[in-house]
Amino acid sequence: MKLPVYFDNHATTPVDPQVVDAMLPFFTERFGNSASKHAFGWEADAAVHEARKNVGSLIGAAPREIVFTSGATESDNLAIKGVAELYRDRGDHIVTCAAEHKAVLDCCKFLERHGYRVTYLPVDSHGTVDLDKLRAAIDEKTLLISIMAANNEVGTVQPLEEIGRIAEEHGILFHTDATQAVGKMPIDVAACRIHLLSMTAHKLHGPKGIGALYVSARKPAVRLNPTIHGGGHEGGIRSGTLNVPGIVGFGKACAIAREQMAMELPHITRLRDRLEAGLFSHLDELHLNGHPTERLCGNLNVAFGYVEGESLIMGLNDVAVSSGSTCTSAALEPSHVLKAMGIREDLAHGSIRFGLGRFNTEEEVDYVVRRVEEEVTRLRGLSPLYAKRVATGTPAAASSGK
Ligand SMILES: *Cc1c(COP(=O)(O)O)cnc(C)c1O
Repeated sequence: MKLPVYFDNHATTPVDPQVVDAMLPFFTERFGNSASKHAFGWEADAAVHEARKNVGSLIGAAPREIVFTSGATESDNLAIKGVAELYRDRGDHIVTCAAEHKAVLDCCKFLERHGYRVTYLPVDSHGTVDLDKLRAAIDEKTLLISIMAANNEVGTVQPLEEIGRIAEEHGILFHTDATQAVGKMPIDVAACRIHLLSMTAHKLHGPKGIGALYVSARKPAVRLNPTIHGGGHEGGIRSGTLNVPGIVGFGKACAIAREQMAMELPHITRLRDRLEAGLFSHLDELHLNGHPTERLCGNLNVAFGYVEGESLIMGLNDVAVSSGSTCTSAALEPSHVLKAMGIREDLAHGSIRFGLGRFNTEEEVDYVVRRVEEEVTRLRGLSPLYAKRVATGTPAAASSGK
């Protein structure tokens, strides 16, 4: 087993060696610009087309519905701002949710400064949106519902089919940030009536800096204002010379995900469940954050009572995990997701996100259980509060392991 152990697959994933192999020729002998009208360009264009097919297939989309971007942040910006701007004469209201990724929340805040109205739906203690509250939030000026497929911190999977049905009933566009879900659970854009879907390669063992926005061409086709103007690439929706090696890698990553999903998801679930069972059987005062069952296969977010998450992470110097969301961990504020779920502030500060993926092993799980047990026991040994709890026999708050 190699140290440090990588259990942070929600932040990014290692590139699959098969993906690297597929990409390499497109840096050197096949370096063409896919827009060029000669042999080098045609070769690059054919590779891009193949990748577009593979990316689309993974979510049930046609190749022409895939717009390549620099990643999910750009895809979220393009979807939300693109719809808001183009359909301004039809409405000014967007419905999203308090537990979204910052890429979605900050786009919405930007639009609020430009005169749009945004409803941030609350989530319940599992991180799930309430469909009745969604229905109640919709008004005649609602343009877009943007609700993520699966949460990047606690892994909670949202009821996409129901949300899609509600959007359709009201004639509203439905965007989902599916960055964490793509390749980790089956997703079908048609079944869920999704109009716009954001994804990124580096969360499914592809390279960083390449992503896509699915833009539905089902009637009526969705139109968008571009956020990046220029040479009219990608149907005029996203200009700029295509990142051919990145796109080839993204396509390969999607093809592998599709081929391996039936094997891989049960494997990762088994590892995650072993981690969860190991931690909950060795330590007390643990609380599961996120939905007990409707959750991404590789996700385990645990609140360690009487422990500071940051201290635990420092102690676990040979295990790569996150506390709260990586995007905000520079500031020592409890994560906005845990806050939205109503998790007590001290427990939010004691929360750790474990993210398992394709290349993790049982041996690593057992090692991490041992190391976490060691560190939590050591830190609690220094905690007067924990000692007092043990001494007075304060009943443990309801632990919610499976
Ligand atoms: C990682 C992530 C993003 C950002 O993706 P980038 O490709 O790094 O811009 C957006 N949304 C969610 C849910 C994510 O997990």
